[in-house]
Amino acid sequence: FHDRDGLIWLDGKMVPWREGNIHVLTHALHYGSAVFEGLRAYGGEIFKLSEHSQRLIESAKMLDFDVPYTAAEIDKICRDVVEANKLSDCYIRPLAWRGSEQIGVSAQATKIHLAVAAWQWGSYFPMEQRLKGIRLTMAKYRRPDPATAPSKSKAAGLYMICTVEKHRAENAGYADALMLDWRGRVAECTGANIFLIKDGVIHTPDPDCFLDGITRRTVIDLAKKRGYQVIERAIMPEELKDFSEVFVTGTAAEVTPVSEIGEHKYKPGQITENLLNDYMAAVQQPARKAAE
Ligand code: PMP
Repeated sequence: FHDRDGLIWLDGKMVPWREGNIHVLTHALHYGSAVFEGLRAYGGEIFKLSEHSQRLIESAKMLDFDVPYTAAEIDKICRDVVEANKLSDCYIRPLAWRGSEQIGVSAQATKIHLAVAAWQWGSYFPMEQRLKGIRLTMAKYRRPDPATAPSKSKAAGLYMICTVEKHRAENAGYADALMLDWRGRVAECTGANIFLIKDGVIHTPDPDCFLDGITRRTVIDLAKKRGYQVIERAIMPEELKDFSEVFVTGTAAEVTPVSEIGEHKYKPGQITENLLNDYMAAVQQPARKAAE
């Protein structure tokens, strides 16, 4: 992904994409001292920008470092990167990490870096697959206990097991894996939250040991606006057979229907379709407002 045209904002400057490099003794590369964000712009307007900038700062705090920019400054950097690359519908990736001044578990002397890249990016799951519903398999690894890891941080290190599970799923012909939490409850996919529907009621796991996604919260609000009942609760894997519709949410995944989790089959229905349409309308709204 490094060999392409474009500009990346790196520590205060726009640099050519191919020059967005760091040293091999970067602490983050060895010890996972990095946090990141993922945002999308629609019609040139970045959806929920300030929420993402704030989450980046909080993610870093949970890893015991301060991003050397304010949320408002990060907002502006993200906008500048979209503009500098002449992008309109794109994905934006801010990353903050500990540098190469010190190597070892202790990293007190490291400098904190910030980079923001952006690129054109369509559907996270291929569109035709998405409308039919994606197929999920059960993951082996579980989301960690908050007493074991800073499970609310969008920390690079927490994605190590997600990559392993995503590969395991892909190699077995599935789009993604559903991960349980440390107690064996349904948690989330490798990069998206999950919603399950039964008798017209929407159920979603309590986000007590994984990311309470910005898309997740947006979709809960949209569902409530439509008058749907949304229940946040502990969901056990034995219940997966009881649901009729399932979908996942995330900045990248947006709202993606699920057709299968292991041996259980689902059919994207009216509630999923309504929320998918509501979400796509909501993300376009800021762009429409800006154009007025
Ligand atoms: N869980 C994980 C593990 C994720 O990587 C993401 C994507 N950031 C989400 C949930 C959804 O979060 P959001 O809606 O804020 O993108």
